[in-house]
Amino acid sequence: MIELNAVLTARRDIAPGLAVFRIEPVGWEIKDFQAGQFAVIGLPGSAARCDGSDPEEEISPPDKIVRRAYSIASSSLERQYLEFYVVMVESGALTPRLFALQPGDKLWLGKKITGAFTLANVPENYNLVLLSTGTGLAPYISMLRSKLLHNRQAKVGVLHGARHSWDLGYQNELAMVERDYKDFVYLPSITRPSAEKVPWPGLTGYIQDLWQQRPFAERWGFDPSPEHTHVLLCGNPAMIDTMIELLGQEGYQEHTKKTPGQIHLERYW
Ligand SMILES: Cc1cc2nc3c(=O)[nH]c(=O)nc-3n(C[C@H](O)[C@H](O)[C@H](O)COP(=O)(O)OP(=O)(O)OC[C@H]3O[C@@H](n4cnc5c(N)ncnc54)[C@H](O)[C@@H]3O)c2cc1C
Repeated sequence: MIELNAVLTARRDIAPGLAVFRIEPVGWEIKDFQAGQFAVIGLPGSAARCDGSDPEEEISPPDKIVRRAYSIASSSLERQYLEFYVVMVESGALTPRLFALQPGDKLWLGKKITGAFTLANVPENYNLVLLSTGTGLAPYISMLRSKLLHNRQAKVGVLHGARHSWDLGYQNELAMVERDYKDFVYLPSITRPSAEKVPWPGLTGYIQDLWQQRPFAERWGFDPSPEHTHVLLCGNPAMIDTMIELLGQEGYQEHTKKTPGQIHLERYW
């Protein structure tokens, strides 16, 4: 049986089925990584599922580790723990088991940290538009905490979409960065304003619809364009696909090893 080589040291519930987890290795060290990369978390099939999740067929053999990739939200300068921002998929194999854990519980954490969704191919003097849905915000939090965003010589804008205002994790942290750095803009947006108990004063609608309203133009004083802007996309694949199409019409190109471009993306499923 594979050893559970890490421990959950902290858990912050943002909303039901949405939480920030801090995980520490036990007896080994976190290797160097770049902000934007991901690690793999696992739990055995025998681990209990949390209340509120769908029942599932038994995993066989029960000690088989169910593993999934998660973007790191903590700073690349922080080596004691890794932080992850995770949403529970009720029918899922891993997340209902992860959400049953409490601080002190053991789990498996892959030692390899990898991924190409970093700022390695974004020139320092280019403006950055960071678009995300739900937990797709995690890599941007890591980039901010690693001091890669607010020290740039250009504008940075985060547009984060969620269903409700209470699902907008890291809201306070991002609002503080916006307050402290004049070149940083944080635009939270929600898709279900009618469910809000207090009227939501901010943006509403899907990221792809909001993009067409040019949300950064007024705040930046100019409209982002591929001549001076790179766009990062993370989260829901439907948002990513629509955004690639819309950005393509504006002249942006997806970055690949062979053809450098201004669109960088990470699909979660
Ligand atoms: C590189 C990479 C990084 C990732 N980083 C994160 C992260 O930081 N946070 C995070 O919550 N997830 C992240 N994911 C998704 C994660 O790996 C799992 O797929 C997810 O947690 C579901 O696992 P599960 O075993 O519970 O569900 P599964 O049994 O694997 O079911 C998968 C289904 O769940 C749905 N799903 C998967 N991810 C999500 C999601 N985030 N939101 C809504 N529905 C989803 C899709 O319909 C998918 O087909 C990432 C995926 C990749 C490839």
